[in-house]
Amino acid sequence: MSLVCTICGHTWETTPPQAVLISRNSRVAMYDIDGEVHSLRRVMTAEQKHNRWHKTKKVGCEFCFPPPEPQPVEHEVVTAPSASTNSIEKPEIEDDDESLTSMQMAFRRINRR
Ligand SMILES: [Zn+2]
Ligand SMILES: [Zn+2]
Repeated sequence: MSLVCTICGHTWETTPPQAVLISRNSRVAMYDIDGEVHSLRRVMTAEQKHNRWHKTKKVGCEFCFPPPEPQPVEHEVVTAPSASTNSIEKPEIEDDDESLTSMQMAFRRINRR
């Protein structure tokens, strides 16, 4: 939370200790600071607004919708399974052929008996 003067634009982290309150309403507080009148308005950062107001996600808030992080590793992960599935499919077909031949062998044995 920081403070900004709506008159001159000067900002403060907190209300200066020498500030003398002149008047206050819900939005701004008029202070006499070092002999000058400043109208201080509380300003919240985007993260403070997010933590206070964004119970549900709000479009345009970088904390509700953080920008996607670049992940160059993802390309390697995508290409790897497609190559491995090709190598897996071939042995499965060979296994089926072997099981078929073994079944045919079994039937032949049964037919012989
Ligand atoms: Zn000012
Ligand atoms: Zn937010």
